[in-house]
Amino acid sequence: MKRIAILGSTGSIGTNALEVIKSHPDEFRVTALSGYSNVRLLDRQVRAFRPQLVSSGDDPAALRRICTDRRVDHVLIAISGAAALDPLLWAIDAGKEISLANKESLVMAGPLVMARAESRGVKIIPIDSEQSAIWQCLDKQDRKAVKRIYLTASGGPFRGMPPARMRDISVPDALKHPRWKMGTKITIDSATLMNKGLEVIEAMHLFGVPCARIKIIVHPESVIHSMVEFIDGSVMAQLSATDMRIPIQYALSYPVRIPSSLSSVDFVKTGALHFEEPDMDAFPCLGLALRAARTGGTMPAVMNAANDAAVEAFCGRRIAFVEIPVVIRRVMEAHRVKARPDLDDIRGADAWARKKASQTLGKAKTWIC
Ligand code: NDP
Ligand code: MG
Repeated sequence: MKRIAILGSTGSIGTNALEVIKSHPDEFRVTALSGYSNVRLLDRQVRAFRPQLVSSGDDPAALRRICTDRRVDHVLIAISGAAALDPLLWAIDAGKEISLANKESLVMAGPLVMARAESRGVKIIPIDSEQSAIWQCLDKQDRKAVKRIYLTASGGPFRGMPPARMRDISVPDALKHPRWKMGTKITIDSATLMNKGLEVIEAMHLFGVPCARIKIIVHPESVIHSMVEFIDGSVMAQLSATDMRIPIQYALSYPVRIPSSLSSVDFVKTGALHFEEPDMDAFPCLGLALRAARTGGTMPAVMNAANDAAVEAFCGRRIAFVEIPVVIRRVMEAHRVKARPDLDDIRGADAWARKKASQTLGKAKTWIC
């Protein structure tokens, strides 16, 4: 019986994780839950799962207690955004087994997080479907035998849209993802393709592979969740239905597989699988993320914070969809990179970028909205 803490239990990943746990009462037990603003849902979850520890709102002490409590074996981190970084570090320091959905924490501080996990002998098991696919393909393989990683992308709701029409994209348009149902921030990131850029950085750190050996490939059917090519020319892929409960269950049950009643891929119904290059001109966020990945140091944290601010401004109808990359680029261009940052440098860069983004948003008189 694995005793599990779910941080961010009121979100999309959190509620899916609770469904997985509910359907496997002999394998998993919920010992801790954390929410943030959705107190009603958290209250319902507490009554249904009866955890021993609960936290809500902005309460770092309670979150830290959950991450370090001896009644917790496994910490599932499904908090969105930069707020997940501290809990991730607390869980690592406490030597817990970790499953990680949050990608922003690795984008901000990947080298520090991975070094700390390695020094404590802590496993970070990915939940993000692409990273879970790569993790499964790499299982028991020699990392030196990896030639290339193919990170698949659905292409989002605006694949193939002429750039001129993108000026009119509304928030509800951007929230209609063709394949996945997710939280607001990641859904907008999927529409700009920033999500794929964040995932490149996430994969670099999780698997110790340089940016140049990660190839993004658009695969609209989203049946292949990513692939690994080895030096002998063999390619391994992981396929499944587009249901986050599949990678969540594997992260919780790892290293074994347990049965699930979730749907299988209907290959005949799916028919052909398609692949294409991403359109870097139509989706400039992708290029900005790759630039941050190659630059390294404090730049990924700055890019991530600027993106957060720009997405928030778009959702608040203060800027247009096509202006999201404009804000990110201006903040990145103003940043003086620190090549080997410590945690304070990263927190400082994050705070600087949020302030710079807010000044940029406040100053410009030319925003379309
Ligand atoms: P949601 O927005 O649906 O949920 C976010 C969760 O974090 C909620 O429980 C929310 O609480 C909580 N939260 C928000 N802000 C804070 C804060 N400052 N402190 C503590 N808790 C907070 O997001 P998703 O579930 O979609 O995504 C979570 C993470 O997983 C993201 O990093 C995302 O990139 C990643 N991910 C998500 C996927 C998906 O399919 N959804 C796929 C792959 C990765 P409340 O709602 O109570 O305010
Ligand atoms: Mg993903």
